[in-house]
Amino acid sequence: MLIQSIFALSLLAAPQDAPAAAPTLTPEGQAIETAIQAYAGKNNDERREVVVSQLRAQGFAPELAPFEGGNPRTGPRAGANVVITIGEGAKDIVLTGHFDAVPLADGTMSQGVIDNAGSVVALIEIAGLVKEQVEQTPGPFRYVFVFTDQEELGLIGARKWLEAQDKTRIAAVVNMDVNGYGETLMYGENVGEHSAFVLRAMRTQCAEMAFDCVAFPMYPPSDDRVFSAAGVPVISIGSQDAVGAHQMWLAFNGGQSNGLAEGFVPPVFQRIHSAQDTTEWVEGDDVLRTARFIADLALRLARDE
Ligand SMILES: [Zn+2]
Repeated sequence: MLIQSIFALSLLAAPQDAPAAAPTLTPEGQAIETAIQAYAGKNNDERREVVVSQLRAQGFAPELAPFEGGNPRTGPRAGANVVITIGEGAKDIVLTGHFDAVPLADGTMSQGVIDNAGSVVALIEIAGLVKEQVEQTPGPFRYVFVFTDQEELGLIGARKWLEAQDKTRIAAVVNMDVNGYGETLMYGENVGEHSAFVLRAMRTQCAEMAFDCVAFPMYPPSDDRVFSAAGVPVISIGSQDAVGAHQMWLAFNGGQSNGLAEGFVPPVFQRIHSAQDTTEWVEGDDVLRTARFIADLALRLARDE
């Protein structure tokens, strides 16, 4: 019912006589799309190499943090997170996003574009923005960007990384998962009491920047679960179009009477973890917009803490 009325409203709002002008891609948005395209169709070792080379091209010196991973299904499997550090300080703001793509049921790999090359490229953009700010106004925080491996095998890279850290250094973690298009941000509130100040910063940021943000009491799991389970303050952020975000909210939080058709799967969930997770859906300017928002959120967290 609700979904039908949303569609009805959007029909009413659409111009009846003039065709909608196709949005033009900015050069910066085009660069984002090209960077995301570099991950499509590559295996996870190749994807890691793309992360490293894109970071180097932006003037960073990425370090590999290798670990013994894998799960009972895959058997032992070597992995490596990619890490960069910006600035200095006694405490860290950590930004995470997994670069690995998911193996599909037929044995092939997902192209891993929305999930999660979009977030990886956004994080590299964020790193550049944060570096500019830190160079102008150094301290008192250090920013650590962790491009995690083997998220799709069970959040393994994030767990291995955290195991090797002094957790008391970590002020807050911002995780990005599922970002390729759309102007609506989604985040989970199921991140533990200790994350309340991160959620408050997010809400303030959404209001100040007039962003459409949808808070999920229950949000699908990503690397954030590793941090919330360890008592580390964290938020996990994804993006998509407004209708899709609200459909997804209903699917996860609406209960039996959520108004969605029997068997309805939100479009973003039809795309990720399938052969449909391709560059076809990517909107570079949307990814850029999200990246700028999250760069500001990271800087806000350093101010508010
Ligand atoms: Zn993902």
